[in-house]
Amino acid sequence: GIRPLIAGNWKMNGLSADIGELEAMAEAAFGGADALICVPATLMTRAHVALEGKLQLGGQDCHTAAAGAHTGDVSAEMLADAGATHVLVGHSERRTDHGETDGIVADKAEAAWRAGLTAVICIGETKAEREGGKTLSVLSRQIPGSVPKEAKAKNTVIAYEPVWAIGTGLTPTVEDVAEAHAHIRKELETLLGEEAGKMRILYGGSVKPGNATELLSIEHVDGALVGGASLKAVDFLAIAAAC
Ligand code: 13P
Repeated sequence: GIRPLIAGNWKMNGLSADIGELEAMAEAAFGGADALICVPATLMTRAHVALEGKLQLGGQDCHTAAAGAHTGDVSAEMLADAGATHVLVGHSERRTDHGETDGIVADKAEAAWRAGLTAVICIGETKAEREGGKTLSVLSRQIPGSVPKEAKAKNTVIAYEPVWAIGTGLTPTVEDVAEAHAHIRKELETLLGEEAGKMRILYGGSVKPGNATELLSIEHVDGALVGGASLKAVDFLAIAAAC
C-alpha cells in the first residue's frame, strides 16, 4: 500500500508565538505516516529549525518564475532555500482569492519540480457544483488541467478538498469520499498511466481528530490535508495517530 501523508496547512495563521506548536510536533513519533506542515513564508526558516527534519516542511503557494520583478511573490526556489520540501499549489483559496486557473496551477506544479519540491496539487468542487451533480465532471476537468502529464508519484501529491467542506465542519459522506477518490484515481490513470497507482490522494476539508479514523480508512484516501486542526500540535498529532 501507499504510506499515508498527514499534511497541515496553517493558511494565513502563525506568529513567532506559535513556533512552540511545531516544536511539540517534532517531539512526537509519526510511526504510521509521513507528516508535513505548510507554514506561512514568514515562518519558513524558523519552522525549518523547529521541526528538526522530523516533519517535512512546505510552502502554501509559489510563483511560476524562479526570480524576478514580481513584488510580494515567493518562488519555489526561495521556499526550497528556506528548507521546504513541498509546496501547495492551486488551493481553492488561491483559486478564489487570486484567480488561479487550472493552467496556472499546472505551471506552478512544474515550478515546484524545477526547484526540487514536491507539488501538492489541490482540486475540488464548490457547493454549487456539488448541488448541481457536477462533482465528478469538475474533477475530470481539474485533473488534466492542473496536473502536468510528467507528474510522478515521488514529486506530486493530489489533495481533494471539496470547497464547501473547508472550514465549515461539514464533510462528505464516506460513500461520497470513496466515489470521488476512486474517480480521481481513474482520471490519474488516464493521464499518467501506472504512475497513478503510487500517487497519494489526500482528503481535505474539516478533518478533525473525531472523524480522521473514518476518513483515513476509505479506499484511495492516502492521507489528509488539515487546516484548522493543524494549528495545535495536540489535534494534528491525534489525526496522525489515526493512521
Ligand atoms: P479545514 O481543515 O480548516 O477545513 O481546512 C482544510 C483546508 O483547506 C486545508 O488545505
